[in-house]
Amino acid sequence: MLKRLLNLFTSGAKDSSKESSIRNSDGATLIPRDQHSISRKNISPAAIKIIKQLEEAGFAAYLVGGGVRDLLLGNHPKDFDVATNAKPEEVKRIFRSARIVGRRFQIVHVRMGREVIEVTTFRGHHEESSSVRSEDGMLLRDNVYGTLETDAMRRDFTVNALYYTLKDFSVIDYCNGMEDLKQRTLRIIGDPATRYKEDPVRILRALRFAAKLGFNLEPKTAKPIRELSGLLLNVSDARLFEEVLKLFLGGSATATFNLMREYDLLAHLFPGTDIALKAGDEIGANLIEQCMINTDKRIRSDKTVTPAFIYAALLWPALQQQFTLLSSQMTPTQAWAQAAQNVINQQLTRTAVPKRFLIPMREIWDLQQRLPSRLGMRALRTLDHPRFRAAYDFLLMREAAGEALDGLGVWWTNYQTANDEEREQMVKDIGKHGGTKAAGKPRRRRGPRKPKTDAAPGGNE
Ligand code: ATP
Ligand code: MG
Repeated sequence: MLKRLLNLFTSGAKDSSKESSIRNSDGATLIPRDQHSISRKNISPAAIKIIKQLEEAGFAAYLVGGGVRDLLLGNHPKDFDVATNAKPEEVKRIFRSARIVGRRFQIVHVRMGREVIEVTTFRGHHEESSSVRSEDGMLLRDNVYGTLETDAMRRDFTVNALYYTLKDFSVIDYCNGMEDLKQRTLRIIGDPATRYKEDPVRILRALRFAAKLGFNLEPKTAKPIRELSGLLLNVSDARLFEEVLKLFLGGSATATFNLMREYDLLAHLFPGTDIALKAGDEIGANLIEQCMINTDKRIRSDKTVTPAFIYAALLWPALQQQFTLLSSQMTPTQAWAQAAQNVINQQLTRTAVPKRFLIPMREIWDLQQRLPSRLGMRALRTLDHPRFRAAYDFLLMREAAGEALDGLGVWWTNYQTANDEEREQMVKDIGKHGGTKAAGKPRRRRGPRKPKTDAAPGGNE
C-alpha cells in the first residue's frame, strides 16, 4: 500500500499532472494511464463488466467516487460506483438484475454475483426546472440529468469527483481533485454554504472523509460547518441513522468522534450526551472514546461490531445524567427505567434507531444494573443472559473509563472461567461484604485506566 501511495506522489505523477496531463476543451484534465497508480486488476470485475456492457450498448460509463479515490491512495475501496449517461430506465433495460432506488436521487443498483454496484446517471445543473428545493435551500427532488462535466460539479468533494475510464485507462479531473489528493485536502466543490444547505448530510460526510482519509478540511470547506450543522435536523431520521452508522463503522470512529466534538455536532445528533459532556462528565467522554477505539480495533481485525453497543456507549452519559436527576424522585429501579426511556425518546427525535438495535441497547444498559447483584443464583442467571457478553464488555469499558466499581470487572472475568465450586465460593465471599451494590449508586471517580480488553463493541466473539 505504501509503495502504491509513493507511486502516486513520486512517480511521473508528481509533476506530470501538469507536464503530461492533457487539458480538455471543457476544462477537464486527463491524467493518462502511466501517470497515475490505478491498476485495472484492483477494480471489482463486476464494476468493469457493467461499464463494458454500458459502453457496448452505446453509452458512456466511468468508475467514480470512493473507488477511484481509494485506489489512487493505495487503499482498498469499500465499493465501486459507476456514472453513466444512460438514464435509469435504460440501465434497467440492459441489466436484468437492476433495481431503481431512491426518490430524491434515482440510483440504479445492479447486482452481479454477490456485489451490488451503484450506477448513477450524470446529474445536471440543478438550477434547471425539475429540481425542487425547500426554504432552507435543501434539494428535495433532483433528477435533472446532464453531462460528465455537470456531474463532476454536482459531486460533494473534489477527491470524490475523479472519473476513471476503461477506454484508455485515464483519470478525468474537472475539479483539481488530483492535486487535493496529493495535498491530502478535503475540499467541497462549489460554494460551501450552498452545498451544505442543499444537502446537510455533506457536513457529516466532510468529517467522515477527513477522519477516514486523514485529510485536512480545507478552511473554506470547514468554515460554515458549525453555523449550518443545525440543518441536520431537516434530514430524515432514517437517513441520519444510516449516516451516523457510517461515521462509526468506517474504521475511523475515534478520529470522527473527535472531529464531531470539535465541530460541535453532538448537539444536533446526540443532544442528551452533548449536555452531559458539556456539564463535565469526563467518565462519560472517556467511555465513548474507549468504545470508539475498540470499535476501530475490531474493524481492523475484521471482527463484528454492533450498532447497539455503540449506541449504548454514545447515550450512556445522557442516561447517567437523567438517572441522577430522577433518583431523588423515585426508587433506583424506577429511575433507571424512566431515565432509559427519556433518553431513548429524546434520541428518536434526532436519529432513528431501529428496534433491532434499541432492544439490545436497553439490555446492555439494564444488565449494568444487574451485574453488581450476584448473591444466590443471580450471578448464574446474569451469566446466562443472551446479552451477557456485551454487557460484560461494557462493564470493563466503564471501569477503563475511570468508573470505580469495586473490582466488579475482575470478579466477572474470574467468574466466567471458574468451576461450579469456585463460583459458589466467589458468591459466598461477596456475601461477606454485601455484594449487592446497585449500578445506580452515585459514581465515584478516579483517574482513567488503560483498558484491559479490546473485546468491546461486538460483544460476542
Ligand atoms: P465510501 O463508499 O468509501 O464511503 P464514497 O465517496 O464512494 O465513499 P458514496 O456514498 O459511495 O461515497 O458515494 C459515491 C459518490 O457519490 C461520492 O464519491 C460522491 O462523488 C457522490 N456523492 C455521494 N453522496 C453525495 C452527496 N450527498 N452530495 C454530493 N455527492 C455525493
Ligand atoms: Mg462508494
